[in-house]
Amino acid sequence: MPELPTSVLRLKRRRITPLGKRPRCGALTRWGKPCQERAAWDEERDAPRNGRCDAHGGRSTGPKTTLGRQRALRNLRHYREGW
Ligand SMILES: [Zn+2]
Repeated sequence: MPELPTSVLRLKRRRITPLGKRPRCGALTRWGKPCQERAAWDEERDAPRNGRCDAHGGRSTGPKTTLGRQRALRNLRHYREGW
């Protein structure tokens, strides 16, 4: 078996925060208890996206750049006008 270059090995072994150490969502549920789900994780940054789980808005935070916002608004208008 050929040896992998050290650069690849280092990438594969890159330390990411283990599941158990990631913060909990903590959103207040209907039962008055904080959500125990783990926060949605940004693998690239190895940090929580916004500290909430999938069910409590942890995924997309919407378009951020001026261009992205404009595009989103244009699409909204487009579909409101109908096909
Ligand atoms: Zn949650």
